[in-house]
Amino acid sequence: MAALRIVNGTVLTMAPDQEPIAEGVVCTQGGVISYAGPAEQAPEPADEQVIDASGCVVLPGLVNAHTHLAMTLFRGYADDMILQEWLEDWIWPAEMRLRPEDVYWGSLLGACEMLRFGVTCFNDMYHMPEQAVQAAIDSGIRACPSGVLLGFLPNAEQLLEEAIAFVAELRQQNHPRIHPMLAPHAIYTCPDEILLKVGEGAVEAGVPIHIHLCETASEVQDSYDEHGESPVAHLNALGLLDVPMLAAHCVHLSEEDIALLAEKQVGIAHCPTSNMKLASGFAPVPALLEAGAVVGLGTDGCASNNNLDMFEEAHLAALLHKAHSGDPTTLPAHTALAMATRLSAQALGLGDIIGTLEVGKRADIILVDMSSAHLQPPRDPISHLIYAAHGSDVRTTIVEGQVVMNDGELLTVDEAQVIARATQCAAHVVEADG
Ligand SMILES: [Zn+2]
Repeated sequence: MAALRIVNGTVLTMAPDQEPIAEGVVCTQGGVISYAGPAEQAPEPADEQVIDASGCVVLPGLVNAHTHLAMTLFRGYADDMILQEWLEDWIWPAEMRLRPEDVYWGSLLGACEMLRFGVTCFNDMYHMPEQAVQAAIDSGIRACPSGVLLGFLPNAEQLLEEAIAFVAELRQQNHPRIHPMLAPHAIYTCPDEILLKVGEGAVEAGVPIHIHLCETASEVQDSYDEHGESPVAHLNALGLLDVPMLAAHCVHLSEEDIALLAEKQVGIAHCPTSNMKLASGFAPVPALLEAGAVVGLGTDGCASNNNLDMFEEAHLAALLHKAHSGDPTTLPAHTALAMATRLSAQALGLGDIIGTLEVGKRADIILVDMSSAHLQPPRDPISHLIYAAHGSDVRTTIVEGQVVMNDGELLTVDEAQVIARATQCAAHVVEADG
């Protein structure tokens, strides 16, 4: 892998309180950042591949803290429905028809979209996770794969054992871009005995738990009816909040829940588009941040979004909480961008290796072209990235020091083939007799 030297760009390291560096340089070596700072202090040029970032902002790759990647196959398949009907009548029956190749090509399609949009890492929860792993390895993106555990399935115990074995195997392979997790779908689909075993398995394997939490009001009401406490309190009573955890959504929270999530440093994936599309509600993100909770951003699956554009997610997060609170100072642009980068990385337990451009971290870097009309005149780059840019403004995407997308061209996969195969697979899964 060539060492890289990215020059002439404005560098946003996204380290806390770091100002944009107008004439910045970022150097990588062996997939790791070896310098990120002003040009005048940069090391002497060596035998490096030079990337000219003139007119671009250079920042850490965006981190999608919650998705179901192969659900790209269901994009536009079932819109404008309530969550339970959507899941039970449309998504779950179609998922019964999934073959391994469907998950592979659906995941690869999602990887293409994300790399184009400057997403360098995604946290996945889906069936046949070995297929998402293969798609991540083939496309060059970083992944936190996990198979979704549904406790009501007759073979749930067996699926859990397989998931634990799968995680252990991945940990042993120690691929630099693959960071597995264990994923019980939610407390309303997984009984306590499964959740407890997941907790034990996660501790044993040294991996975090990935779960949906407090997504809808009815989930919370059901938990009070069944357990006499909130889903957050219930997970805490089971000891699961003491295991590193990424909780997706966290929309319906009490003050006690917010304090507990902050105290236990549970990683939270805020998914504003999904919450709006499914009318789940308004996550108390400003209160969570105020309490010191770790709140990142996720797109959720393509069936409830319907794209994987993290710029859009950050944009909506910044707007949604202003509209909901009636306070235009809520969730400013720099907070939204931190959520899409540093805080998402931290929420996934990867804060030490990705999320900022700092020496020693993995070289997950994007260049966003700021020269288009909709990004003029040049002003605060963070304002432009959050309030005016789109995923399609990303010019170059680098993961683990490898250039995977340059000038709009994906270098790791044949995108036309991916689109053709994924289209065939989508036809198979949504047609009952397909
Ligand atoms: Zn989800």
